[in-house]
Amino acid sequence: MADMKSQEKTALVIGAGIVGVCTALYLQREGFKVTLIDKDGPGEACSAVNAGGLGGGSCAPFSLPGLWRKVPGMLMNRLHPLSVPPSNFLPATPWFIRFLLAGRQRRVDEITDALLTVVSNIFEAYEPLVSAAGAQDMIQRQGRLFVFTSRQAFENNRYERDLRRSRGVVIEDLDGDQTREVEPKLGPNVVHGAYQRINGHVVNPKRMVQVLAEHLVRSGGTLFREKVKGFETGADGPPKVVTETATHTAGLVVIAAGAWSRALAAQLGTRVPMQAERGYFMMLPNPGLKVPVQWNDKLLAICPMEHGLRVSSGAEFAPVDSPPDYDRALAILRQADGLIPGLEMRELERGMGARPSMPDSMPVIGAAPGHPKVLFAFGHGHIGLTLGAITGKLIGELAAGRPTSIDITPFRPDRF
Ligand SMILES: Cc1cc2nc3c(=O)[nH]c(=O)nc-3n(C[C@H](O)[C@H](O)[C@H](O)COP(=O)(O)OP(=O)(O)OC[C@H]3O[C@@H](n4cnc5c(N)ncnc54)[C@H](O)[C@@H]3O)c2cc1C
Repeated sequence: MADMKSQEKTALVIGAGIVGVCTALYLQREGFKVTLIDKDGPGEACSAVNAGGLGGGSCAPFSLPGLWRKVPGMLMNRLHPLSVPPSNFLPATPWFIRFLLAGRQRRVDEITDALLTVVSNIFEAYEPLVSAAGAQDMIQRQGRLFVFTSRQAFENNRYERDLRRSRGVVIEDLDGDQTREVEPKLGPNVVHGAYQRINGHVVNPKRMVQVLAEHLVRSGGTLFREKVKGFETGADGPPKVVTETATHTAGLVVIAAGAWSRALAAQLGTRVPMQAERGYFMMLPNPGLKVPVQWNDKLLAICPMEHGLRVSSGAEFAPVDSPPDYDRALAILRQADGLIPGLEMRELERGMGARPSMPDSMPVIGAAPGHPKVLFAFGHGHIGLTLGAITGKLIGELAAGRPTSIDITPFRPDRF
């Protein structure tokens, strides 16, 4: 994108989740006058609901070789996080075909290499934003402990660990006692662990988005609570953004509307194969857990936060705005007491969020095809909290007309 003249240095970001807020902040740091628009306000959607993990080594895609053989068994098991409501089975089928094709070895290697370039820069990308907002305490670096209550699950996960290791991610394989040395609250049924010290976590994802958004406004940004309906496109200038109450113009528009981005991109002529992959959390009193844990046998993430212990799971491929299915989700989440003896199952809070998931596990970052003054920043799936700041940084570089510090070719919007 050509460098913009100073009078054009206005930007409008649609979506105040972690990706939109970080993007708005980086654009502001590049000298743009920024307007951020969200239908519900900052951090009210998926970015508030996640497991808090900052995956400094999360470079492995979700589709891996041989996974297709396991899918039918996953769908049959009521306590497995993967679910597809019958009404979404046909609409989601093309996505699943792409997902399984992304699990071929050659593609897995390409995706892993591409994801490594972004995940290995996440803490450096967050640092200036949280420092300026006085929110450094929101990011903790205790690593992430993958735990296994069966030898089988430990072995099944070996391919993925070796994939990350092959890219230089340090993971320590542990026996049960060594795992409990890292996190003493774990029960005696833990037989193996894998400790990835590079990871971090956010102690309150919702508060972090809100604190960053407040800093944006304090620094001169504007925040509107409006729902974007669509665009009015001109010859080759930026489109006007039409909300339910106003029409906005800016020199640059960024679509960072998470799982709702597919519909907005389609209005500009780009079809992206995104599915809403919904996940759930339940907040419990924290018995003193210090290290974020992923229980791989049950696919539960358990994260100590400032307001309790968050247990998260779920990969429900349902339409983005359909009602949550808490019966099923809570049955999955309540299994957490099988890992931490004496865990008090007193539910303090619950929530559901829609991950904006792409079939190749990679985000969409780059100029909208046919609309050089519109940038896409969405599709972060399971690692949007991880990638929020680095995505913002890359969008800032693009908007400023500089070469991006990371090659974003693998994330281009027209790759499908
Ligand atoms: C259970 C669960 C656990 C997770 N755990 C992790 C984890 O440990 N680590 C990690 O990195 N990621 C995790 N994720 C994924 C992560 O939360 C998401 O990838 C990330 O929040 C996506 O951020 P976003 O800003 O793109 O979207 P969102 O946070 O969904 O924000 C999009 C915003 O756009 C707004 N919007 C949408 N449409 C419009 C419109 N038309 N007009 C105006 N505004 C609009 C919405 O109101 C919303 O605020 C998890 C997700 C879930 C569900």
